Amino acid sequence: MTITQKRSTGGFLLEDGVKVHVDPGPGALVKSWQHGKDPRELDAIAVSHCHIDHCNDCSVLIEAMTNGVTRQSGVLIGSESLFTQNPGVPVQYTEKYLERKEVVKAGDMVMVEHLVIKATPTIHSDPTTVGFVFETSQGNVSYISDTQFFPDLTKWHRDARVLIANVTRPARFRIPYHLTTTDAIKIASDINPELVVMSHIGMKMHMMGVEEERRELEEKTGIRTIVADEGKKILMDGSAITTSL
Ligand SMILES: [Zn+2]
Repeated sequence: MTITQKRSTGGFLLEDGVKVHVDPGPGALVKSWQHGKDPRELDAIAVSHCHIDHCNDCSVLIEAMTNGVTRQSGVLIGSESLFTQNPGVPVQYTEKYLERKEVVKAGDMVMVEHLVIKATPTIHSDPTTVGFVFETSQGNVSYISDTQFFPDLTKWHRDARVLIANVTRPARFRIPYHLTTTDAIKIASDINPELVVMSHIGMKMHMMGVEEERRELEEKTGIRTIVADEGKKILMDGSAITTSL
């Protein structure tokens, strides 16, 4: 999907007073502008791991967040691999312009002003990969990034109002280190959020009917489920969660 761009791969932006771009894969910079988001306003960038579909645009977003490395601002949060393995992140030359660098592993907690961000565990081919829980003023947003299912996974995301899960494969096309729709049904049923967002849709899922997989997840869990299409907005407001393109 990254190569063909049949679905966009720029990650997502979380806004709660502060602005955090999560997993800026290829397209994050360009798509931000196309959707009216100025990346110079970012307060933080959070990267789950250093695979290219999650971190490709990290460097250029750092460039934006520091206003072309002319001011010291912004927090870069990432798993260990982001800082040790990714040649695309010019940590050396941007380092002094970042307000902070935070290397996180499961269980760690980082503050970006008032926003608490917790790192959660995964089982992925990059063993340093983390997920995130964002404790926003409107409740928790959980991001289950690239991982295969494991029994303890859901306990880390227990209080999610919105659950964003990287559901890469349809039920019958399992691959290692990624979730299928079957896994997502199990996870969503256990956590019981108000909204499930299926993200990181793989080519098999895209070609074979993402709408069918979405409907199955929604019907089997009874939880409202959407697919993370480009430009989709989710507004968490008191007791209501609304979505729009
Ligand atoms: Zn990955």
